[in-house]
Amino acid sequence: MERHEFASDNVAPICPEVWAALQEANLQYAPSYGEDRWTARVCDRIREIFETDCDVYFVFTGTAANALALAQLCNPFHSVICHQHSHIETDECGAPEFFTGGSKLLLVGGADGKIDAGQVEALLTRPNDLHSHKPAAISIAQATEFGTVYRRDEIAAIVDLARAHQLSLHMDGARFANAIASLNCAPNAITWKVGVDVLCFGGTKNGATAGELVIFFDKKISREFDYRAKQAGHLGSKMRFLAAQWLGLLNRDAWLRNAQHANRAARGLATRLRMEAGIESVFPVDANAVFVVMDERLASALHARGWRFYKFIEPDVYRLMCSWSTTGEQISGLLADIVAIK
Ligand SMILES: *Cc1c(COP(=O)(O)O)cnc(C)c1O
Repeated sequence: MERHEFASDNVAPICPEVWAALQEANLQYAPSYGEDRWTARVCDRIREIFETDCDVYFVFTGTAANALALAQLCNPFHSVICHQHSHIETDECGAPEFFTGGSKLLLVGGADGKIDAGQVEALLTRPNDLHSHKPAAISIAQATEFGTVYRRDEIAAIVDLARAHQLSLHMDGARFANAIASLNCAPNAITWKVGVDVLCFGGTKNGATAGELVIFFDKKISREFDYRAKQAGHLGSKMRFLAAQWLGLLNRDAWLRNAQHANRAARGLATRLRMEAGIESVFPVDANAVFVVMDERLASALHARGWRFYKFIEPDVYRLMCSWSTTGEQISGLLADIVAIK
């Protein structure tokens, strides 16, 4: 039997709150293309949750959210500074470059998947003349691809650099909920209050079937974004079903509970791996991912027993991902197999 439970957070089913919201929205006819009451309500809820008058758009995938947001920040002759292991660099098939019409991604390193401010500064202070690219934005992922979370002061330091060089700040929040659950802070404390210009807020990995929000905290930047999204094929005609899912997540804080559950499951998994199998986590387990080193024998024996999970860093670092629906039995099942193989 194939076991997908720890392969990603998008292998999980749709959470009950989203399912119920879809059923409620499915009882009637309603206006199309976002003219419906669910869409208006989600935009209002986001303004309440972030406590600011932001602009909110819906797209179907995180890749579209990131690429279209960056296209809004950049001209084709611009560049975007990001981590060498960022999703926009490694997992989006060149969508940011394509939708910006040519902006180059400038890669920096940094421990635990977070960009190193010193390296960003070095990049920005070297002569950027007409013959290279003009940096226009810095992109950070919150949580990062390595399951770590930037603290508020770490974001502030990056924003300081961005501001000093007239750059915008983009936040890839495919797992923004997990970051908020981890930091236990107000959503505005690590976004507009600290200087983030645009946030891609992920719903899919939190418990929806699809649907990400692009949130602009500066209305000067969002100008004509509705046309950009439409041209890219991301204006849903039955938008109310994307929006209804978000209402399911946002009403009564299901998004936070889902993320807290996923984070707690990851911490539990990491602890049990250490205590019962002597396997240490490679990165701090701030959010819902656990990265571990496995030798070839263990990894292939687990694969042979049906477990599906990804190798993330060559030669031997694997990712185990938890979600809103991870159970203690699932964790016990994986541990039992690991202990049996070892
Ligand atoms: C999953 C993910 C995305 C979005 O991916 P899609 O498959 O396009 O929805 C973006 N950024 C990060 C960090 C992700 O993990």
